[in-house]
Amino acid sequence: MTRTILRNGRLFDGTSDEVAVADVVLEGDRIVDVGPGLDGDEAIDCAGKLVTPGLFDCHVHFMVDGDFSAKAHLSTPFSMNFFQAAERMGRTLDVGVTTVREAGGSDAGIREAQAAGLIRGPRTLLSLTMLSQTGGHGDSWEICGSHMPGMSDPHPGRPSNVVDGPEEMRRKVRELVRAGADVIKVATSGGVISPRSNPRHAHFRPDELDMLVAEASAAGRFVMAHAQGTPGIRNAVAAGIRSIEHGIYLDDEVIEMMLDAGTYLVPTLIAPLGVLEAVDKGIDLPDFVVAKATAVIEIHRASVQRAMAAGVPIAMGTDSGVTPHGDNLRELAEMAKLGMEPLDVLRSSTSVAAELLGIADEVGTIQPGMAADLVVWDGDDLDVSDMRSRLSAVVQAGEVVVG
Ligand SMILES: [Zn+2]
Repeated sequence: MTRTILRNGRLFDGTSDEVAVADVVLEGDRIVDVGPGLDGDEAIDCAGKLVTPGLFDCHVHFMVDGDFSAKAHLSTPFSMNFFQAAERMGRTLDVGVTTVREAGGSDAGIREAQAAGLIRGPRTLLSLTMLSQTGGHGDSWEICGSHMPGMSDPHPGRPSNVVDGPEEMRRKVRELVRAGADVIKVATSGGVISPRSNPRHAHFRPDELDMLVAEASAAGRFVMAHAQGTPGIRNAVAAGIRSIEHGIYLDDEVIEMMLDAGTYLVPTLIAPLGVLEAVDKGIDLPDFVVAKATAVIEIHRASVQRAMAAGVPIAMGTDSGVTPHGDNLRELAEMAKLGMEPLDVLRSSTSVAAELLGIADEVGTIQPGMAADLVVWDGDDLDVSDMRSRLSAVVQAGEVVVG
């Protein structure tokens, strides 16, 4: 088998504090050797460059692309959504993101088309939809009394997502697993892009969340929680949910609970920025969305900063879809702005994310036996402020897919 060697790059292996010059040898879709002075058949010269594992984005939505206005949804033919998703997945891979967790919208065909090589894109773990209580963040009900098409209206690949009561929850989790969910997503608080839900209110009661986690665990699935307000975060952590998405109102008590439980935080710092940028671009969003986004930006940043300082495990996630796909790497710059060291930002975007997703034995680090997903960056420093401009090559499953 051909041995492809990435030669003389400065290597960040996903976990180590050491970032030293080394070679990486690939065979087929695997990394087979890492170290200095290796040999190979075909060489990619990485001298003066940084080599990292393929990056992760633990929170994307391929069924939207920076415009979640009613007009965009209403004027898109049903099957067009899937072609659009394919293009957005390609755009995501093009910036070095080789693994994503899809936080609602895409169905199993999206994952399987990518895995089968029919479309370009990152390896995709799916939540299918976001479970929501009646009137909650994922309920597509609108003030007019009708349901708006978008990321959560049901179709044959995407079960309905509104559920109330523990017994309905039990059945719903089983239905999602049947439809191909890799992870179960729930909204334990209100959110920004939903008319009557307040981000500060807790959604679902502990008996519903306990049932959710028990059923998901029995099926070998983790749970991720859209959780913005403190009570909703507290309930999610207490129920054993694995990751808090957004985490806008974190207080010291809830941070302590997260540390004790080993709960991850996926900050999605660029999401509220993206809402305001969309308005600047002339995308027509309801006033309540703009008002909610504006109100939370500084509070959100302070919360995430406090969690980072306390040592809560942070996994990179952007909520891309709210922002245009392909802008994912802006999140790394925002994480660094809040005081994370560049090495920690890179860990959050590789090995820590892989641990959150439960696939750390397959991706997220550069060591023999792992999948050959790697990115080569121009310059050998660790400056994460503008990673996109540094992108040199992307290797996915041993193939050079960019560069
Ligand atoms: Zn989201």
